[in-house]
Amino acid sequence: MAQRVTVSSDGNKKISRVRVAVRLRPYLDKEDEKGEGPCVRGLDKQNLEIVNWRNATETVKYHFDAFHGEKTTQQEVFLSSVKPVLSHVLNGQNASVFAYGPTGAGKTHTMLGSAEKPGVIPRAVREVFNLVHAKDAEEGWDYSISMSYLEIYNEKVLDLLSPSSQDLPIRQDKDKNIFIPGLTNVTISSFSDFDTHFVPASLNRTTASTKLNQRSSRSHAILLIKVVRTSRVLPHRQQTGKLYLVDLAGSEDNRRTGNQGIRLKESGAINLSLFTLSKVVDSLNSGASVRVPYRDSKLTRLLQDSLGGSAHSVMITNIAPEYKYYFDTFSALNFAAKSKMIVNKPFTRETVAVPVLPVKRAREEHKAGGSGSEPHRKKQKDGKTPEQDASSPSANSISAEPSVMDRLIALEKLVMNCQNKDRLSVTKDVAQSRKEIQELKKKQKEFESKAMLFSQVAKETPGSAEEPVFKNTTAPLQRKPARQQAVVQPLQVSQLQPPVHLAVFKKQSVCVKKRELSSRIELPDGKENMKENSWESQLDTQMLEQSKQKILHILNSGGVKELKSLQQIGDKKAKLLLGWRELNGQFTKLEDLEKVEGMTEKRFASFLKANILSAMGK
Ligand code: ADP
Ligand code: MG
Repeated sequence: MAQRVTVSSDGNKKISRVRVAVRLRPYLDKEDEKGEGPCVRGLDKQNLEIVNWRNATETVKYHFDAFHGEKTTQQEVFLSSVKPVLSHVLNGQNASVFAYGPTGAGKTHTMLGSAEKPGVIPRAVREVFNLVHAKDAEEGWDYSISMSYLEIYNEKVLDLLSPSSQDLPIRQDKDKNIFIPGLTNVTISSFSDFDTHFVPASLNRTTASTKLNQRSSRSHAILLIKVVRTSRVLPHRQQTGKLYLVDLAGSEDNRRTGNQGIRLKESGAINLSLFTLSKVVDSLNSGASVRVPYRDSKLTRLLQDSLGGSAHSVMITNIAPEYKYYFDTFSALNFAAKSKMIVNKPFTRETVAVPVLPVKRAREEHKAGGSGSEPHRKKQKDGKTPEQDASSPSANSISAEPSVMDRLIALEKLVMNCQNKDRLSVTKDVAQSRKEIQELKKKQKEFESKAMLFSQVAKETPGSAEEPVFKNTTAPLQRKPARQQAVVQPLQVSQLQPPVHLAVFKKQSVCVKKRELSSRIELPDGKENMKENSWESQLDTQMLEQSKQKILHILNSGGVKELKSLQQIGDKKAKLLLGWRELNGQFTKLEDLEKVEGMTEKRFASFLKANILSAMGK
């Protein structure tokens, strides 16, 4: 497998894209207290699928350069994703391997492993020594191998081989090589030499982590193996190849996981590095001639000469199969995805199909308390994936009210995001939703027993078709009309769109009730006009709509520069908008702007007016 894929060339300057592998760790009982089973599974060596949280009758299928399933051994991961890049390091080229994913998904297992199951780091270091030893003496080069080990924590560069040192600077020499003046660099002549330095430094880091608020999951641990080769003949030419092996900080949203103790600055710093990494990988993999924002964070600045350019990079995205990781898995996959599509195929559900059920009746039942069950939270016992023709009468299944599930999930997200004072009310909403679901379940049971009865009667009726009218097979609770397959651009951190039907909107720090936004505009004296939106009503409706779409397009596709081209959007706001997009996906309508931190209703009205008038050239 060639590790280097050139996607564009600019004269002699070649840009390599980052190869993306996904590793699914085995299902762990202890991580699944509710016994919900896995929500993600592998399909083959490049594809996997995950339950679609927006519609449990669908899965989202992702395609990657490589997929490593639960049973993949450390050796297999190493051989397929890491070993191929190592030979380049001996030829004076740079390479990087980094493990991405939420805390608990297996990054450290992949990179470090254990004594019994050594991971990428020990295997790669051994292999570098093997490759050097195997080099033919006739080739005329002498090799020297050295190591550095550092950590980026809170956007500070710390030397793990010299723990007393302070934040170190990152510099670039005239040949555009990145280096860290003052960083310990020890020559190692064997694997056991490496172990002598590496093991105590790793232990130091782990010990520090328990004292310092799980610091290790919030910092990036970076091992640098440098291979310098010197020509034996004059003028003793030297070439340096660098190999970075990186155990990244956890990609989970610290606000959502409710890390109380964590300071805003700390989580912000991690997000900045990971956020910038996503931008860098995105720019490299899109192949477009856009500026690669290496300088926007310490991590990407350090990796600048080892990511893209002529370097060879592999990202191993680690994911966990349990439901408690669901949203973090989803966003990790979206970060890493080359492409994805929605597939109409239920995943882990058990449902019962019933004979033709008048739609009206079903609706009435729902009104009277609803029907259905909690969709994708059930463990499938037989492991089958039900496939049924949605048009067949027997597939007219009892439908869970989708909005309840969506609402429940969104509300749970909200609970995590709201400040304490708002939590109580949201928690009540969640409880209410849970109650609704219980009722839906009850209703479904009733339907099931009725259906059974019906089926028995049908069997006993002489002359009835051999094929039972009612098949007690698994089938989707709800079939939406088949959607068009949506192939999504690579590496968008989140494709999820916030549910539009929610009664409660999410903000960065507060929750607010949905309001009617349309009619408030700011008057020159600063007062709000609560009447008709007079300036809007004076404009041509078609042009108004076009302008809104134009603004929406910039909001959804623009980078900082394009966003700043909008009225009233400065650098800070542009970054906030990008951040919001990363977390929540696309803006479905302009009013979504109100969910962005600092965008009050008043500011939104003023933003809207200024931009629409500007777009219409008024
Ligand atoms: P992270 O570094 O992403 O926080 P860890 O590597 O610490 O996650 O993994 C969490 C737990 O899962 C550990 O107990 C680890 O041993 C286990 N684990 C992770 N990946 C695997 C795997 N592929 N096989 C077996 N156990 C694994
Ligand atoms: Mg770890």
